[in-house]
Amino acid sequence: MTSSDPQAQVQELRRQLQSLLEAAKANERKLDRFDALERRLVAVGSMEELVNLLLVDCRADFNLDAAELWLLDPDEELRRALPALPMVKAPQLLDNHAPLKALFGAARTTRLVGAADAPLLAQAFGEGSPVRSAALLPLIRQGLLIGSLHFGSRDPERYDAESGTKFLDRLSAIAAIAIESMLNRERLRRAGMTDGLTGVHNRRYFDHRSLIEFSQAVRHRYPLACLFLDIDHFKAINDRHGHPAGDEVLRQVGGLIQRSLRTGDLAARYGGEEFVVLLPRTDLAGACEVAERIRLMVQEAPFVTPEGGTLSATLSVGLAMLPAQATSFAELLGAADRALYDAKRGGRNRTVADEAAGDAAAASP
Ligand code: GH3
Ligand code: MG
Ligand code: MG
Repeated sequence: MTSSDPQAQVQELRRQLQSLLEAAKANERKLDRFDALERRLVAVGSMEELVNLLLVDCRADFNLDAAELWLLDPDEELRRALPALPMVKAPQLLDNHAPLKALFGAARTTRLVGAADAPLLAQAFGEGSPVRSAALLPLIRQGLLIGSLHFGSRDPERYDAESGTKFLDRLSAIAAIAIESMLNRERLRRAGMTDGLTGVHNRRYFDHRSLIEFSQAVRHRYPLACLFLDIDHFKAINDRHGHPAGDEVLRQVGGLIQRSLRTGDLAARYGGEEFVVLLPRTDLAGACEVAERIRLMVQEAPFVTPEGGTLSATLSVGLAMLPAQATSFAELLGAADRALYDAKRGGRNRTVADEAAGDAAAASP
């Protein structure tokens, strides 16, 4: 304040006060935005919601030009789970620590990166990205770096090394907790739905899903095919090659079945060496084709045993169709089971359709 005119001095003071007030208000708005985000982070119910929140909503709420999420996924657990989830933008999955180390080094603290460090911006957002300044947030849980969150702006001044990182540090800590708890929840959910040996759905999940599939097929009047698959002379495989070799055959058959299906189809391990498959919107001809494809794949597969040898196996398939057995799902499953019995009696390694399935083919659109 250089002026000696008291009027001018008062005006200058007013101006300074005004700008302090504005800064305080801006800070309060920022705090509110962070606060709202943190509340949503701790309340998310699913992995896709969490990813959408961090990558899509954050970008809009904080007026960012880019947002990236990197997650360490050494066991390819997320790689398997994520494609099925409806996400606008997917996180980048890392199979090792190297990219994270390149961003954070040993410090593992929030980094504010300016336009001067173009190579680092390119690493964090990809070559050719318009980002000119960024905040790189390490996601740390129990002392381990589990991923990173990158917020980028075209404005080279938006993030500079002199700015405070208090809000961002807090956000990254909460995001890391939310991600870890979501991963644990997903693990539990999947463990409850899948068969530990074969990786296909378990009976419990099938019992639940099959009723939904059945009622939807009835309501929307589309055909639903049910396949019952049972490995032939499996007891003899166990007896001849040992239980672990039998387990390996089960595991590989489960994989073959899973790979021959489309999204929307349902495969489950029904019991010991029995699998069940539901094919919504599939007519008799289509279902026979799927059944035969699986049967032939199993017949031709060299099953690798834990000792490194190979053995061959076959399976039999019973097939039934809705709407031919329309009254209940139990009846549809029973019809497939009876057809399977006929396939076994007929000599095994074959597909037999329930005799009423032809009516379904005639009745299907
Ligand atoms: P079929 O052709 O008539 O189906 O004869 P099968 O020998 O396959 O049928 P059976 O029902 O007599 O035997 C099924 C065998 O599957 C007996 C059981 O010990 C074995 N089994 C069930 N669950 C498992 C498992 O998880 N691992 C292994 N290795 N064997 C299993
Ligand atoms: Mg059996
Ligand atoms: Mg069997």
